[in-house]
Amino acid sequence: MTGNFRVPRPHNEPERSFAPGSPEADSVRAQIKHIESQVRDLPHVVDGARSFGGQTMNVVAPHKHAQVLGRIPMADASVTKSAIDASLRAHHDWARTPWWERAAIFLRAAELACGSYRDELVATTMLGQSKTFHQSEIDAACEVADFFRFNVFLAQEIYADQPSSLQGNFNLLDQRPLEGFVLAVTPFNFTAIGANLPSTPALMGNTVVWKPSEKAALSSDVVMRLLEEAGLPPGVINLVHGSGKDVAATAVAQPEFAGLNFTGSTQVFRALWKTVADNLDSYRSFPRLVGETGGKNAVVVHPSGNYDAIKTALIRSSFEYQGQKCSAASRAYVPRSMWNRLRDDMVETVRTLKVGDVASHETFVGAVIDEAALRRMENAFQRASDLDSHRLLVGGSVHPEEGWFVEPTIFETTDPHAFTLAEEFFGPLLTVFVYEDESWDEVLPLVDEASPYALTLSVFASDRQAIAQALDVLRNASGMTYVNDKPTGALMGQVSFGGGRASGTNDKTGSRLSLQRWLSGRFVKETLSPATDWTYPYLDRSF
Ligand code: NAD
Repeated sequence: MTGNFRVPRPHNEPERSFAPGSPEADSVRAQIKHIESQVRDLPHVVDGARSFGGQTMNVVAPHKHAQVLGRIPMADASVTKSAIDASLRAHHDWARTPWWERAAIFLRAAELACGSYRDELVATTMLGQSKTFHQSEIDAACEVADFFRFNVFLAQEIYADQPSSLQGNFNLLDQRPLEGFVLAVTPFNFTAIGANLPSTPALMGNTVVWKPSEKAALSSDVVMRLLEEAGLPPGVINLVHGSGKDVAATAVAQPEFAGLNFTGSTQVFRALWKTVADNLDSYRSFPRLVGETGGKNAVVVHPSGNYDAIKTALIRSSFEYQGQKCSAASRAYVPRSMWNRLRDDMVETVRTLKVGDVASHETFVGAVIDEAALRRMENAFQRASDLDSHRLLVGGSVHPEEGWFVEPTIFETTDPHAFTLAEEFFGPLLTVFVYEDESWDEVLPLVDEASPYALTLSVFASDRQAIAQALDVLRNASGMTYVNDKPTGALMGQVSFGGGRASGTNDKTGSRLSLQRWLSGRFVKETLSPATDWTYPYLDRSF
């Protein structure tokens, strides 16, 4: 087929309400029941073949950790090597598949994510990652579909962008995929990131080894089945379960390692980068390293900010999904004139937030992902409580008996350099620093310097000068700055996601930039009437 084909203009997938008694709530509840009634074996998928063997690990529901939902095999070096070999074998044909055919697969995958797979995606994300109906819907259904649809549209723009040619020349830009294979390593906290990180390089013609988080295995299995049903050929994305350290050690040591698409903690990304550097002499090409990592996201409040909007933003962005969004608010800077009222209101509201089973319509806060996360929060609460500079306002306890439950917690601190304003804890902990209203000029540099991260940031003010000043002083303190909105909730096609400093390489998931990282352009210049005389007019030809 020949033609300058056009893909549909994408739109953000609307979310369903999940109001009690709604058909979608009933349907997802039935899925949950079904999934809970069995222990699923979640296999590796290499070259389209499923395998399960060797050492295994249980997959449990964080909010009911005695309940085993499935088991994953832990890949040894031979499994990882077979996934790499499958990727390399698939590369030749996939790299030559017309881009619009690759696009059609991901467009179909988007329809499946919003259609026949939707409720299973939502239910597995609720159970395996402890998200509420609403949080699962916006992640596992809407954002998965958005990534597929918008990426296809962005790919079309990239391929359409061609060099100009003067008469007598014909210039082409060949947007080649990378030589070798891409390793995608994904985190537990978003099913959509799990779907997106292997898919983006694959859409651009690369073949991939995908190592999902052990703690998102249930939903990753659904994503893989969905991609296969959408028509993804065997070997293009090879799913390998297991320890990230072990899988990465094998993958990164191969001469054909062409790139890493990573989202997770800063510490793991740094370790991976160092391993890549150690292997640099053995690679065929310089690998592309893309990493979206940790955050310590601030809400900065000016005295002119809207009170109700600030309170709503703080409650939602600090405690939704238990503070386990990379963009979650975990520090706030509040003027003295607003603080007493805001403190009392927030404490009262937080006390009413129900922590518990995510399938209950009353639950706002589920469980943190595992025991290590719960102990990390417990340790942070203890460290903060031991300091004179900190005052516990609400929460501060953990309840590990049935699920990994951590109370939504707020500390107030008088120390602008406190560890609670600097470190990422990845749980429901907000620390507030109160400043004197007249010290706005001084508080902005404190926000900038307190933490090594630069992911998201919110500024609340109605005073335009204050907004402009914050945008200027905090220019490098985040990759996404929200004015009068919470720091969570990036949407494909509107706000692309990524951060600088210790928060990552800022390649902006959901933008042309992030797709471009998986391409290695080749210019082809064809001269239609080549020169046939080696001399130039300026030369004296009389000698
Ligand atoms: P994590 O770093 O523990 O794990 C991420 C992935 O890396 C998992 O697949 C894991 O198995 C693997 N891994 C773990 N240790 C490894 C090692 N030594 N070598 C290679 N791979 C290894 O992160 P997580 O707990 O899954 O997710 C939470 C973190 O992710 C937080 O720091 C959060 O801020 C970050 N995050 C960032 C973004 C963003 O866009 N910036 C988005 C989501 C999550």
